[in-house]
Amino acid sequence: MAADARAHTGNTSVNDVASIFEVATNPLVASTIEGDTVPENSGARPSVVVVGGGFAGITVAKALDDLADVTLVDPSDTFLHNLASWRALVDPAWLERIFFPYERLLANGRFLRDHAVAVDGHRVALASGLELSPDYLILATGSSYPFPAKTDETDAARARKRFLRAHHDLRGARHALVVGAGPAGLELAGEIKTFYPEKQVTLADLSDDILPGPYDQELREELRRQLDKLGVELVLGSPLRALPDTPAATAGRVAVTTAAGEDIDADIWFRAFGVTPATGYVSGSLAAARDEHGYLRVDGQLRVSGHEGVFAIGDISDADRNMAGTARLQAELLAANLRAELTGDGGPVGYEKLPPVIAIPLGPEGGAGLLPGVDGVAGPDLIAEVKGRAMMVETFQDLFDAR
Ligand SMILES: Cc1cc2nc3c(=O)[nH]c(=O)nc-3n(C[C@H](O)[C@H](O)[C@H](O)COP(=O)(O)OP(=O)(O)OC[C@H]3O[C@@H](n4cnc5c(N)ncnc54)[C@H](O)[C@@H]3O)c2cc1C
Repeated sequence: MAADARAHTGNTSVNDVASIFEVATNPLVASTIEGDTVPENSGARPSVVVVGGGFAGITVAKALDDLADVTLVDPSDTFLHNLASWRALVDPAWLERIFFPYERLLANGRFLRDHAVAVDGHRVALASGLELSPDYLILATGSSYPFPAKTDETDAARARKRFLRAHHDLRGARHALVVGAGPAGLELAGEIKTFYPEKQVTLADLSDDILPGPYDQELREELRRQLDKLGVELVLGSPLRALPDTPAATAGRVAVTTAAGEDIDADIWFRAFGVTPATGYVSGSLAAARDEHGYLRVDGQLRVSGHEGVFAIGDISDADRNMAGTARLQAELLAANLRAELTGDGGPVGYEKLPPVIAIPLGPEGGAGLLPGVDGVAGPDLIAEVKGRAMMVETFQDLFDAR
């Protein structure tokens, strides 16, 4: 199946396929207003505060930097391109490529290293004691996920050291257990086995099959075929009685048993489940817009329900699935709508949920996915080209070009 996946690509170029992730080159983001003479920081520019500098936040902040007085708030000193975190775990040379200092993002606006502790309507209270009350507020605080896919370490130098420790512990392990056979777990198992074929790798999940979600069965079959070829062992269909006592991503004896009675004995384990939206700071009337899972309810234009001038994009919004690709598309759409509103040129466009799109590399040259414009399953060649080899790093090198 993988071999003929290329045949399904028809006339679609790799650029078309990548465009879902690669919105920085989209004219909606890149366009500037000819002859725009709004003076810098004069008070004449509308103020925009973007809370959270993840995929959504950096995209919208950059796209509005020429038009509005933009302030980007994030507790970290750098953006972490976490799509390549697993690669950096297995190959630390990548640590030099995945951290981007926020100071290099905006040419006109400013970066505030701080974090929101309470947001009610347009009012943002920061941990430092500062209060912001912008014309437009864009919430883009994303989600947390277990280290090393994401990190709660806000200092890049310390984050790199944690990555290196985890890498060292993985190098020393004979048998790695990955818990969670969703996209992240599949990718991690594939990375470990590709870079260290001599290690035993077990992927465990309570579901009967890999990759839950709205994906064709053909995709699961192709991924299973490749995992099998790599030698990844699957333990499916039964939950672990308890998670390991040893901290994740750290060397130590890992002894677990599934509810069905199967023992797994490993030397390191990784937690590949648990996306948690970061909306704990919303308060007052804004808190009413949070659903039972912690996501903010938004309308068709990504406005937080009932709150004029307040928007939620990316993983915190209930507009679409938790994906960097959709986070960036939402950011692009919101920036274009605000630009139309501020310049009077054009009207707002509504966000439409995407059909299932996914690219799961299994090492730099393997993997499978579902891509726009590609019929059926995209095979390893295409996945390597759009993601697995370069891990989309160029997109962020281009974006962080201000200084
Ligand atoms: C291993 C892995 C692989 C993935 N691969 C892909 C992939 O190939 N393709 C894809 O589309 N998606 C992928 N994803 C999903 C993708 O990472 C998320 O969808 C994406 O991070 C969401 O972007 P975001 O901007 O909404 O939030 P985030 O990237 O989570 O960023 C949120 C930012 O907000 C900041 N923040 C949080 N709280 C506050 C606060 N109170 N005040 C100020 N700032 C705050 C954080 O510091 C962070 O910088 C992957 C995820 C993982 C874990």
